[in-house]
Amino acid sequence: MSFKSLGLSEPILKAIQKKGYETPSPIQAKAIPPVLEGKDVLASAQTGTGKTAGFTLPMLHYLSNNPHPKFRPIRALVLTPTRELAAQVFENVKEYSEFLDIKGAVIFGGVNQKPQVSKIKQGIDILVATPGRLLDLKNQGLLSLKHIEIFVLDEADRMLDMGFLRDIERVMKLMPNKRQNLMFSATFSKDIKKLAYSILNNPVQVEATPENTAVEIIEQKVYRVAKGKKTGLIIKLISEGNWQQVLVFTRTKHGANKLTKKMVSAGITAAAIHGNKSQGARTKALAGFKSGKIRVLVATDIAARGLDIPLLPHVINFELPNISEDYVHRIGRTGRAGAEGQAISLVSADETTYLAGIEKLIGEKIEMEIVDGFEPDPNASTEPIKPGQNRGRGGNRNSGSRNTGGNKNSNRNRSRNRSRNRNSN
Ligand code: AMP
Repeated sequence: MSFKSLGLSEPILKAIQKKGYETPSPIQAKAIPPVLEGKDVLASAQTGTGKTAGFTLPMLHYLSNNPHPKFRPIRALVLTPTRELAAQVFENVKEYSEFLDIKGAVIFGGVNQKPQVSKIKQGIDILVATPGRLLDLKNQGLLSLKHIEIFVLDEADRMLDMGFLRDIERVMKLMPNKRQNLMFSATFSKDIKKLAYSILNNPVQVEATPENTAVEIIEQKVYRVAKGKKTGLIIKLISEGNWQQVLVFTRTKHGANKLTKKMVSAGITAAAIHGNKSQGARTKALAGFKSGKIRVLVATDIAARGLDIPLLPHVINFELPNISEDYVHRIGRTGRAGAEGQAISLVSADETTYLAGIEKLIGEKIEMEIVDGFEPDPNASTEPIKPGQNRGRGGNRNSGSRNTGGNKNSNRNRSRNRSRNRNSN
């Protein structure tokens, strides 16, 4: 299967070649043909599957081959839940349309609207937007959606999680009834299906490779640790492993800030990215992280959603998410495009139930390890590993961080023993 055989035009193929893509990803191979045929599409795909090109490439093909006869109205709208995702989708639009006469703009809140408005006034074909700023500019009479021919709802599940349902409904009323609709979502709850039913007409359903395939190529590991020792352990792992690009997840914004400060004090360049940060700070942090200036990016789930960071070698869950599916989303950021990745979780006693839920979801026990000096708190009531059961580790007492190194087999055995111990408790 090649991009050419999908029927995309030469200028688009040239841009794809420039990006270095050789073959379409599964979601692209499945979604591009029906989108080119003008059909509505409901796609099950998360970030990392190549879904953005999956809708952008055929959209560009259509718009460039069917220019508006009189002027340049906004003809395609991509709605995304977060500012970061909007910026990244727009970045892709620009790259893929480099050799086409297509113009686009991106709008989101938290920044001055003036440059966004002036870009729209110059005439654009594609608008990438978050719901709030879109409705805001529409209410000020600064844009019109009357000529929309293609509507893309990206990360629909996260849209609903973030409470955007009413806004989506408002946006729908501003567009003509006759249009093509594409909806992407990583999960399909009852509410998502209801939304899909209200937006899409007789959609073709496509699915990316099941999430488990991605999970299989990621080396996963759990470090059991006392809650109060997590910061020390994460600093040790990053320093001694000499990890240069690490995405760390915390459950709260406050936690993200606190951890970032401690890392910086320990001499590790780090930045936090979450909803309370200004857009400028977030963009700067992400750019620094991508360029290698910042080693550690500490993020909350919502802020990290949609971040396009290819080939991420290390993801660390400083805290486990309480929703098991979020674990799969988080670790899906490593091991992309066939590259190997490592996903590590620091788990304290009070997270035992979350861990059990995650292991049930992914259908496997995650390899477990304890680092000397960073043992779990034996007094914590939900702690499944009793001190007496750690004997196998005794000989390593002074070697500490060697546990984190290459001796995979013995780690695996240890992990198996631990699992057994855990099961017998
Ligand atoms: P997405 O799921 O759209 O966020 O894309 C994830 C990453 O995969 C991005 O860094 C894309 O540039 C990259 N990508 C998309 N399509 C392909 C492809 N066909 N071959 C290789 N990389 C791709």
